[in-house]
Amino acid sequence: HENAVFILHDQLNLDAWPSRVREEKPLLIFIESAAKGNALPYHKKKLVYLLSSMRHFALECAEAGFPVHYHSTQNHYDHVLKDLLSVNGDLNLTFMTPSEWDSRERLRKVRTEYEGRVEEISNNFFFANPEEYKDRVKDGWLMEYFYREMRRKTGYLMNGENPEGGEWNYDDKNREKLPEGYPVPAIAETKPDEITKEVIEMVEEWFPDHFGKSEIFTYAVTRRQALYRLNEFIEERLDEFGPYEDAMVQGKYDLFHSQLSVYLNNGLILPKEACDKAVEAYENDNARLNSVEGFIRQIIGWREYVRVYYEAMMPDVREVNHFNFTKKLPEMYWSGQTKMNCMSECLKPVIDDGYSHHIQRLMVLSNFSNLTEIDPRELNDWFHFAYVDAYEWVVLPNVLGMSTFADGGVLASKPYVSSGNYINKMSNYCKHCDYKISKKTGEDACPFNYLYWNFIDKQRETFSQNGRANFMVNMFDKKSEEDKKAILNSSDMFIKTLETM
Ligand code: FAD
Ligand code: SF4
Repeated sequence: HENAVFILHDQLNLDAWPSRVREEKPLLIFIESAAKGNALPYHKKKLVYLLSSMRHFALECAEAGFPVHYHSTQNHYDHVLKDLLSVNGDLNLTFMTPSEWDSRERLRKVRTEYEGRVEEISNNFFFANPEEYKDRVKDGWLMEYFYREMRRKTGYLMNGENPEGGEWNYDDKNREKLPEGYPVPAIAETKPDEITKEVIEMVEEWFPDHFGKSEIFTYAVTRRQALYRLNEFIEERLDEFGPYEDAMVQGKYDLFHSQLSVYLNNGLILPKEACDKAVEAYENDNARLNSVEGFIRQIIGWREYVRVYYEAMMPDVREVNHFNFTKKLPEMYWSGQTKMNCMSECLKPVIDDGYSHHIQRLMVLSNFSNLTEIDPRELNDWFHFAYVDAYEWVVLPNVLGMSTFADGGVLASKPYVSSGNYINKMSNYCKHCDYKISKKTGEDACPFNYLYWNFIDKQRETFSQNGRANFMVNMFDKKSEEDKKAILNSSDMFIKTLETM
C-alpha cells in the first residue's frame, strides 16, 4: 500500500503535521484548483500568494526527499483526489481537517466514498481545541476570559497564577495617535522570483477580472522569507506596536503592525513561533509589556477565539443579518474612488496589496458599511475576497460577529459604529479631506457625523438593550427637533446618493 498525504493551501508547514509524516516521507499531494480560486473574485495578489507559496513549499518538500504529486485543475480538488483513489487501488490517503467549512465537507465526502482508505487527522495549526470551548463561546463567553484561559494554558507572560505586571490587559496604554513625522521603519520587500513571476502571469490569465492588482508583488512566499519578516517585526516594530496599534496615518499603511496574518494563516509561520519570539523579546528587555501583551492577545486571544466561534456557529451564521440591511456595497469598495479621505486612504492598501490594519478594517471600512445600511453578508464577501489574509474561519467571525453585529450580539456587546470624531482622534485623515469634520450636518459636513446619529436613532431598539450604549440614544433624544431633522435629512440624502453611484 502506498500512503499519501493531501496538503491544502493553508497547511504549508510540516512541523504542524504528525512526526510520522516527517519520518516516513509519504507521497505528498498538492492541488491548484481554479474552481476554488473562482469561488469569489479573490484579490489577484491573494491568488498569487497562495499559489506561489504552495509551489515553493512543494519544491522544498521534493528537495527534502518527499515524493510529490503536484496537480493543477480547473475543477475542485476532491475530483482529483477521487480520480487518484480510483485509479490507484492501493493508495491510502490522509488529510488534515480543513480550517474552512466547504473544503471540510468536500473532503469528508471523499472519506465516506472511500471508506477505510481515507483518514482524517485533526487540525494542528492552532493552540486551542475548539471542542473544549465551543459551547461556552456560543453562549456568549467573552474573549477576555477565553484569553485568560489561553494565557494560563500557554504560560505566556505568567508569574505562576498571576499575569505579568499584575494586569491581564494593558489596552489603556495602547490608544495613542502617531505624532506628526514620527519615524516608522520600512518592512522588507521580497522580489518576485521566476516561480512567482510565472504565477503572476497565470493569475492574470485565469482570473483577469478579479479584484485588485497583481503588480508590485512584495509578499514573502517561503518560510525562510516569512521568518525573516517575523524577526524584523520583533526587532524593529514590536516595542512600539502597542501604543500605536490603533493609529492611522495619511499615506502610511503598515505602521507598527506585524503584517504576519498572511503567513500565520497559511502555515508559513506557526502562531507559537510568533508568540515565543515576542515573549522572548519582552524577557530580554527588547520590547515593553503593553506591546508584547497586546500582540500575544491578538494571537492566542482574538485569533483563536474567532476560530472557536466559527466552529461553534457554522453553518447557520453565514446567513445572519440582525439589522436586516439589504443595500449593496457601494462601488467605492472596488474602485477606491470617493471624496471621503478616510475611506480612500483605507481602501488604497486593500486594492493595491490586499491589506489594511485592524482599525482601518473595523472603524472605517466596516463602520461606514454599517452606517449606510449595507447587507453585512455583502461586506463579509468583500472582506473575504479583497484581503490576502482572509479565510472564512477568520473573516466571518470578524465581520458578521464583531464589526457588523449581524449575529445580534453573540461575539460583540454592541455594533462597532462611531462618528467622525473617532477617526479624527486616531488619524490625520480629516486634515486632508474635502468634508469638514467640525460640521455636523449639511452637504460639506463629515458624513460619519450625521450617519452615526441616524444609526443610533434607527437602531435604538438594539442600543436600548445595552446599558452603555443606551446612553447614546438618550443623547440623541436630547437634541433639538431642528438638529434631529437635519441629521435625518442629511443621512437620507447621503444614503440615496450612494445608492445611485
Ligand atoms: P497585527 O496588528 O500585527 O496583529 C497580530 C496578529 O494577531 C495578526 O497577524 C493576526 O493573526 C492576529 N489578529 C489580530 N486581531 C485578530 C482578529 N480580530 N481576528 C483574528 N486574528 C487577529 N484577520 C485575518 O487574519 N484575516 C481576515 O480575513 C480578517 N478580516 C477582518 C475583518 C474585519 C472587519 C476586522 C475588523 C478584522 C479582521 N481581521 C482579519 C483581524 C485583523 O484585522 C487582522 O488579523 C490584522 O489586521 C492583520 O494584520 P497584522 O498581521 O499586521 O496584524
Ligand atoms: Fe473621514 Fe469625515 Fe474625516 Fe473626511 S472628515 S476623513 S469623511 S472622518
